[in-house]
Amino acid sequence: MVPNRRVAEHWDTVDMNLTVKICGDPVLRRVASPVEQFDADLRELAESMIQTMLAENGIGLAAPQVNVSKRLIVALQMKDFDDNAAQPLVLVNPAAVRVSKDMWSYEEGCLSIPGIIASVLRPQDVDVKYQDLEGEFHAVSASGIFGRILLHEIDHLDGKLFIDYLSSAQKSLIKSKLNDLIQDKA
Ligand code: ZN
Repeated sequence: MVPNRRVAEHWDTVDMNLTVKICGDPVLRRVASPVEQFDADLRELAESMIQTMLAENGIGLAAPQVNVSKRLIVALQMKDFDDNAAQPLVLVNPAAVRVSKDMWSYEEGCLSIPGIIASVLRPQDVDVKYQDLEGEFHAVSASGIFGRILLHEIDHLDGKLFIDYLSSAQKSLIKSKLNDLIQDKA
């Protein structure tokens, strides 16, 4: 996920960047498989995903976005919209086990859908269970922007994109931009 405005200006670009796949690439629509091997390759992938997310000014990134169809996401643990000091969290095999009935709307963007931002309605609070890079189980309760990032990234693991939630009026507004992105892919 990307913020609707730049959160931090101080992130340096680094060399470990992966290529982020753009809307229209079939990997973004695939249901990702569970991670079963908690090895050095997984740690390296997670580290490269964090570097890529930061370099691209993202606040969350899912493995399918870097062409790896595995259930792995990284997300900044933002306390609020202006949290410039948020640390990244790696979540392996994450699952939203509870979401609140309360919903809220906020403008989302996505590194795989560059240049498009739209309001998306999502639950206010979410409980997520996940494994760390050693395979240990954890749970996190998140609300506000951090909860939204987690929901957005977990959606990627099921082949779902934020544009899928838009109303037909919203969709018609972004239609030509979206077609351009998909055309560029072909
Ligand atoms: Zn995204």
